[in-house]
Amino acid sequence: MEDFPEKGAKLQRDGTYALIPHVPGGLITPEELSHLAQVALKYKAWLKITSQQRIALIGIKKEDIDKVWDDLDMKVGGLNGPCVKAARFCPGKAYCQKGERDTLKIGMDINEKFLGISTPNKVKIGISGCHNSCADSALRDIGLIGTRKGWKMMVGGSGGRKPRIGSLLIKDLNDEEALSLVRKVIDYYKVQDTPWRLGLLIEKEGWLGFIKVLD
Ligand code: SF4
Repeated sequence: MEDFPEKGAKLQRDGTYALIPHVPGGLITPEELSHLAQVALKYKAWLKITSQQRIALIGIKKEDIDKVWDDLDMKVGGLNGPCVKAARFCPGKAYCQKGERDTLKIGMDINEKFLGISTPNKVKIGISGCHNSCADSALRDIGLIGTRKGWKMMVGGSGGRKPRIGSLLIKDLNDEEALSLVRKVIDYYKVQDTPWRLGLLIEKEGWLGFIKVLD
C-alpha cells in the first residue's frame, strides 16, 4: 500500500485514503460545501477541516479514488513534494474589523500565479490582514502582514519540528509590489541547488545573494 501523489491520495493508518480538494483560502460557497458533503455521504467518508484551511475526505477506499475525484469535479489541494503550496490567508479587510489590507484578492492572485511551482523544498505562504497575524505569516517561508501603510513582507519562517521566525524583508508595499516581490523570491529560490528551505538557505549562505532579489 502506498500514497498516490498524482491522484492527491494519502494512505491512512487503516489502509483507506485521504483526498484533499483545493479550497483556496478556506473559502467555499454553501453550494460547494453541500456538494462536498454529498460526495462524502456517498462514499461513507469523514470530512476533516485541516490546519491548512482545506477540507479532507477521509476513509476513501483505494478503488474509489478516481470515482470520488470525478464526482467532486474539484482540483487537488494537498500538493505533495517540493513546490509552492496553497497560500493560507485570513479574511482580512473584506470581513474582519481589524483588517488593514485585502488578503482575499492577493491570496487568490498568489494561488493562481504560483501554486504548484517546483522549488528545492516546500514553500508555504501566509497572508494576514493585520499584525494579529492569524495566518501565521511569521512562520511561513513567505509571509505578508497588512499594515495601514501597506504590506510588510517576512521571509524564511517555518513551523514544524524546527520552528523559525521569518525575518522582515521590507515594508510598505502596495498590492502590485508585494505580488512582484513574491514572484522574485520564488524565482530566486527555485533555481538554487539546495535541499534547505528558504530560511535555512539564507541562514547558511547569508543575505547577500538573496538581497539582490530586491533590486
Ligand atoms: S490577522 Fe487581523 S485581519 Fe486577519 S483575521 Fe486576524 S485579526 Fe482579522
